[in-house]
Amino acid sequence: MSETFVTDTDVLIVGSGFSGLCMGATLEKSGNTDYVVLERASSVGGTWRDNVYPGAACDIPSHLYSYSFRPNPEWSRVYAPQGEILEYLQNTAEDEGVLPHVLFDADMLAAHWDQATTSWHVRSTLGLHRCRTLISASGHLSDPSYPDIPGLDTFGGLTFHSARWDASANLAGKRIGVIGTGASAIQIVPQLAGDAEHLTVFQRSAPYVIPRIDRAFTSAEKRMFQRMPAVAQEMRDELFWGNESRFPQRRQIPAFVEQIRDRAERHLEDQVPDLELRAKLTPDYMIGCKRILIANDYYPTLMRDNVDLETAAIVEITPEGILTADGRLIELDVLVVATGFEATDLPIAHRVTGREGQSLADAWLGGGLAFHCTTVAGFPNLFVMLGPNTGLGAGSMVFMIETQANYIAEATAFLSELGGSVEPEAQAQAAYVGSIAARAEGTVWLDGGCKSWYVHPESGRLTTLWPDFMSQFRAENGSFDTEGYLVVAGAPVGERV
Ligand code: NAP
Repeated sequence: MSETFVTDTDVLIVGSGFSGLCMGATLEKSGNTDYVVLERASSVGGTWRDNVYPGAACDIPSHLYSYSFRPNPEWSRVYAPQGEILEYLQNTAEDEGVLPHVLFDADMLAAHWDQATTSWHVRSTLGLHRCRTLISASGHLSDPSYPDIPGLDTFGGLTFHSARWDASANLAGKRIGVIGTGASAIQIVPQLAGDAEHLTVFQRSAPYVIPRIDRAFTSAEKRMFQRMPAVAQEMRDELFWGNESRFPQRRQIPAFVEQIRDRAERHLEDQVPDLELRAKLTPDYMIGCKRILIANDYYPTLMRDNVDLETAAIVEITPEGILTADGRLIELDVLVVATGFEATDLPIAHRVTGREGQSLADAWLGGGLAFHCTTVAGFPNLFVMLGPNTGLGAGSMVFMIETQANYIAEATAFLSELGGSVEPEAQAQAAYVGSIAARAEGTVWLDGGCKSWYVHPESGRLTTLWPDFMSQFRAENGSFDTEGYLVVAGAPVGERV
């Protein structure tokens, strides 16, 4: 029985966040309009649509954390708030011609490679789709990770994850607990403290925090960015190279490490006079091992009378609150879990089945492996954006996204001519992964004495971060060529059965 496809296109992109929209815009620019975007939600924006917690803002300057092909002279501040970034993405979808290609409420449930037709067959909540090229743009910060703490589901009050904020919840006058002290938590905590009756921050590891040099742009500056785009570009370039110059810290070059550690220590000393609290807030691992956070209001919030920093381990969550290892029950009305995302084992990998019937999750046991950080042996014509080794300790992910979008657009153009498939040779992939592992050796991410989502918990490999300069990422992974690929000719897309 022949299958009926809801869509039958050259390219199918999963996700309409920063990556998916960039991919669509890049295909549009290359003249390929034969694509659809599956979006599981009912609007675009990815992580910037989902993370609506109070205080959500970018911690990379917006003039850098934006597409090179869409400079925005109107950014209100150095670090734009979430709503502005979301609007920027919505405008991108519309202005770049991507929006008409997006199918909403279309959750990708499964995808398998069909060798007979050299195409991917994809099942979504809307039905069946077929495409020659499948692009995962589902991100690595999209599915919330919930802590594995006994009793979490027994809590009698209101519980929500930072990435699934309940804006309708009235938190005023409540006893609130926040689990986590990562980039999300330190933005949330200062916002909740004012209205809460009491706020308890549950810290497992202290983060390093440095000052946030933020300010609003004046209307004169915005006019200048508008009229003199070269000035905005110059600022963007400076920001880029400023981030690039931080990479030696991560390689543990002593002078660079001392400089940033001094900055963090000074910030803590300046803001926290209480020595007991300061000791609790002093990290016990090397700076840079986890993300270095930026905030001016986090430490002062912890010194408020109605706020406690709790460092005793959590042993259990009960209907009344949180039980700590020293036997205390901290009673709560609201529990916020700011415990991050499923970044080391990407959920979408469980839904993708390759040439030999193997799931991508099985191919990635022990963490992601990819050729040029984008393609995977055994998975023809699959391209993964923000997959293995594409994250950054410091820098703009948009740079990485644009690099991959260009690589993939060139590959799809090649496939349009060829009409078949490309897939990395296992040996070429292993050599590439080996070169990444060699570069990861000696970095603070592996040797810094912390546990983070940068390192796969079972294999101990650095699987999420790129362990080199960003400019090197582009040099290696920004342009497609067939070296290291198995290239199989096949029927052009329009002639498939
Ligand atoms: P995260 O960095 O993974 O932090 C999770 C926090 O939860 C950590 O403090 C962790 O403690 C704690 N935690 C996890 N499981 C726990 C448990 N069972 N018991 C106690 N504590 C537990 O997550 P995130 O803050 O959501 O940030 C994730 C990433 O999102 C960031 O690294 C960044 O890339 C991005 N982000 C960016 C921005 C931005 O402004 N651009 C804002 C927010 C997030 P440990 O440290 O001990 O593991």
